[in-house]
Formats: sequence, C-alpha cells, structure tokens
Amino acid sequence: MQLTAAKFTKNDLAKYPFLKAATRYMKIPDLKIEDLRSPDLEEILKRAEERVEEAILYARVSRNLKREDIEISSYPVAIILATATKNPFIKKRYALAEAKQTYEDLKDEPKEKILGFAQNFGWKLMLNENSEVPFEFALSFADYLRNTTHLRGKKWKLVNRLLSSGNVYITRGETARLLSEEVRKHIEKRLEVKELPKFPSEIMETAEKIKKLSVEKIGKAEMGGFPKTIVQTAFPPCINALYQAVSAGRHLSHIGRFTLTSFLINIGMTPENVVELFKNFSDFNERMTRYQVEHIAGERGSRTRYIPPKCDTLQTHGVCINPDELCQILHHPLAYYRRKVKTTKTDLQINCERVGFI
Ligand code: SF4
Repeated sequence: MQLTAAKFTKNDLAKYPFLKAATRYMKIPDLKIEDLRSPDLEEILKRAEERVEEAILYARVSRNLKREDIEISSYPVAIILATATKNPFIKKRYALAEAKQTYEDLKDEPKEKILGFAQNFGWKLMLNENSEVPFEFALSFADYLRNTTHLRGKKWKLVNRLLSSGNVYITRGETARLLSEEVRKHIEKRLEVKELPKFPSEIMETAEKIKKLSVEKIGKAEMGGFPKTIVQTAFPPCINALYQAVSAGRHLSHIGRFTLTSFLINIGMTPENVVELFKNFSDFNERMTRYQVEHIAGERGSRTRYIPPKCDTLQTHGVCINPDELCQILHHPLAYYRRKVKTTKTDLQINCERVGFI
C-alpha cells in the first residue's frame, strides 16, 4: 500500500519556507514592502539579511529552528533583499545556497515527508514497492526528464536508468538532489522581477551592505560583467586547451586543474558541473575532487573564492598555449573572456542549460 504524503509541521516550514504551506503560517501573511520599515519587523529583517549574507559567505543558508516564526517570515524578506541588490550574482548565489541546504536536510527526511515535498511542486513521485528493485522511489518519466535536463552526469541519462510503467527509479539521494534543483529554479524565478517597486530606504541600505560584502568576499571582477550563459567560443586559448584536455580525460598539471576550475567557477559554472567534467579522468576521486572544487569556489575552508592566475604566471608554468592577438593586450584569462564575450555574436553562445552548466 502506498504511503500518503506527510503534512508539514511548523518546524518543517521553518526548514523549507518556500513551500506553499509556509504562507499559511506566516507571521506577516500580507507583508507589504512599506511594512518593512516597522520596528516590529526588525528581527525578521535582521534574519533575512543574515540569510543572504550566509549565502554569499558560505553558499549555504543555516536553519534556526528554535525561532520558527522568524525563520518562516524571513524567507520572503530575504527574497526582497536579494531582489533589491539587482545583482545577478547575489540572486543566483542565494537561490543556490537555499537549494544546497534543502538537499542536506531533505535527504535525511522520512519517506512521507519527501513525498509531501514532491507533491508541493506537482511531482508524481511514488514509493517503490517492488522489493526486487533497489531504489526507494519511482518518479514519473515526464518529471524526471524535466528535472535532469541540466544535469551532466552520465548516471542521469535515461539509457542508464531503470524504467517501468512510465516511471524512473531513483534513490533517496537522487530524489533530494532533483528536488533541490527544483527549489533552486523556483527561487530563481521568484527573484526575476522585471519591474522593481520603490523600496524603502532601509531596504536599499541593507541591499547596499550586502553588495559591499559580496565585493569584499567574492571580488569585484567576479561579481559582474559575465553573461548568464557560458560562451565557449570566448574562452582564451589556454582555457580552450585545458577544457579540451579534460574533456578527453587527458592528464592536467596541478596548476592546469586549478586554472580551469577557477576560470569556470568565476564565469558561472556550478561546482557540481565542474566536478562532472573531471569525471573523465581515470584517477577520478569524487570526494576529493568535490572538496577541491568547492574550496576554490569559496564554499569551504577560508571561504575565499579563487580566481585564475595572471597570464605571466601561466606563461611561466607552460599553461599559456597559442596566445592570440587579444592576448597581446590583456593580461588575465578572465579579462580576455569578458572582452571576447562582448564581441561574440549571441548565435555562437552555448546555452548553459543545454550543456549542463547550470
Ligand atoms: S596570454 Fe593569457 S589568456 Fe592568452 S593564452 Fe596565454 S595565459 Fe591564456
């Protein structure tokens, strides 16, 4: 007999404040932007600010489950704050950080809760009742396809999956991963506001503080200036050579791996997809690679996001290959990319989604 989806408790909603049911529990259900001036909402605003700051600093948003009301209400305010920064990097980072935390929490939830979570997003997810199949869940073919289009790993390809009666079998970890991807898309959509309202001065001041923090932590060069899509035809020659080598599973020196990883991270590729790229290596160690990539992305250790070395350093280490005319006037691979993107026609752009960059 199929289990029915569990109802969410208030504690669950504090953990997953983007669920539809969270609006019913909101302390401030009809929140208007001008209300954010109110001293009564000071704590909510403070926690909302923390949420976005944590996303920038740690690429995760912690959960404070002892203060459920504040936790639930601070989420929509954090959305307002991230929107008010008008900064694509901050918005993307915030959506990603909430999604990552969701994955960490969701993979340890009881089955009924995972079913309820999936239901919230309109998924047809069921428990697998076939004891001969070693998967916990079965997801409808359509939902599976919709949510794996962006994922690069071979394991997501349909030819490598077990299918039965229009469903694809998936593990608990895979279910949490796909649902967290749904959360990321959902939040990114909420942050896409075409016409911004006039925000109160308090919100604008906080948004400015957040932007300043991002520049301090992430670096001005990396905060903007790059398109949302990755333009492979704008890669400098050195990065092209490294990218081709890694795609073919050819060995890269330490500095080569560092240069390629930091370059791809800084132009917008997710650590997850960089890890996928390195899977072509015969000595691939997922745990170690993930650790190193996340470290370079500033999600671990010193929380510093690294940028690739300058051209003269790359020349010294033999990573500079076939420099072209543009290389004569620029001195950094990221500067090369930024300049080349501006002159590259959009029809040459590789859509991030199509190649799995996001
Ligand atoms: S000059 Fe710089 S950007 Fe150009 S190939 Fe060499 S290292 Fe790369």
